[in-house]
Amino acid sequence: MNSLVRTVTGPLPVSAVQGPVLPHEHLALDLTRPTDRAAFLGARHAAAVARELADLRERFGLALVIELTCRGMGRDLVALARISRASGVPVVAGTGWYHERFHPAEVGSACVQELADILVEEITGGLGGDGVLPGVIGEVGSHGRAPSGPEVRTLTAAARAAVTTGLSLATHAQLGVGGPAQLEVLTSAGLAPYRISVGHQDLLDDPVVHRELAAAGAYVAFDTIGKEHYQSDATRLRSLLALLEAGYADRALLSCDISRHSYLAGAGGQGYGHLFRSFLPRLRAAGADEELIDLLTRRNPLRFLTGGDGGRHGAAEPGTAARPAGQPVAVPDPGTGAASGSRGAPVTEVTTGAGAASDPWAASRPAPGTGSAGQGGRC
Ligand SMILES: [Zn+2]
Repeated sequence: MNSLVRTVTGPLPVSAVQGPVLPHEHLALDLTRPTDRAAFLGARHAAAVARELADLRERFGLALVIELTCRGMGRDLVALARISRASGVPVVAGTGWYHERFHPAEVGSACVQELADILVEEITGGLGGDGVLPGVIGEVGSHGRAPSGPEVRTLTAAARAAVTTGLSLATHAQLGVGGPAQLEVLTSAGLAPYRISVGHQDLLDDPVVHRELAAAGAYVAFDTIGKEHYQSDATRLRSLLALLEAGYADRALLSCDISRHSYLAGAGGQGYGHLFRSFLPRLRAAGADEELIDLLTRRNPLRFLTGGDGGRHGAAEPGTAARPAGQPVAVPDPGTGAASGSRGAPVTEVTTGAGAASDPWAASRPAPGTGSAGQGGRC
């Protein structure tokens, strides 16, 4: 596992992240199109974004944001670094491709290896000239029950880049649909399930699919919390409790996916703090204790980001290996608020490991001349 988190302001020891993590957010993006001019977080919003994060750091200990604005989504590394420095909250930047509607021209008819090479180049060489390195791949998107042809290529390329570089990968499953198909494409390309977070599963009111993804070893992202016009938080809470009850507390991720300026708290929206101000109190009222909250909001996202499972969940039999044996997961009873099992038992602690290398990615970098684009005959 990686003992350092790559942030836009430099490497950060995992052990330094002592507060909650928001694993799927956007701090600067541009998804505007003629029919939607508001899917935008630009320079004029940066100060408000930084103020929100600073406030969350102060009030709730927010310790890290995983920013999943990737290629074709208006990614702005300069803005991310500025927001991170102004707020004091470390930020991880991403790379990859969103779903097909937002694919840039480079996806075109490029083959999987050419696309993978683009990502590996960014991950090993940096984003632009300022040396900022992406610390995660995502959000890599698809729409519909099965990814389109171009989306199969971008997902497969992203998985190859993840395997090559040792980064984890977060997906965008449009409206929560198609998660199992994404997982199939990604794992078929050789990526271990415990390096994968399947996105937007809180938009899908289907506990069977959630359990299926978790049993396979993937992370199940409840990452649009507060977007009530897509799904009520009441339904999200019920779905999350069902996943916890099934024994998969160590697979759930929680975030808000702030993706337009009207969602900012200063604009009257739910803000990045909705998780802390609204949803976690409801989860506590349903019986979750602080151990479980820490698992869901800190240890899980860090374990996802760093690959901390070490394969324990990689080939899990459904319902058997998604939690360490002998350590029942905290499970609030959705009906009574009482817990079953040993509520709040620590499940998987993220450790920094011994003998951390100063550059844990060095060994995974392709040797010069072996990983660059333009090698004939590979497509
Ligand atoms: Zn997103």
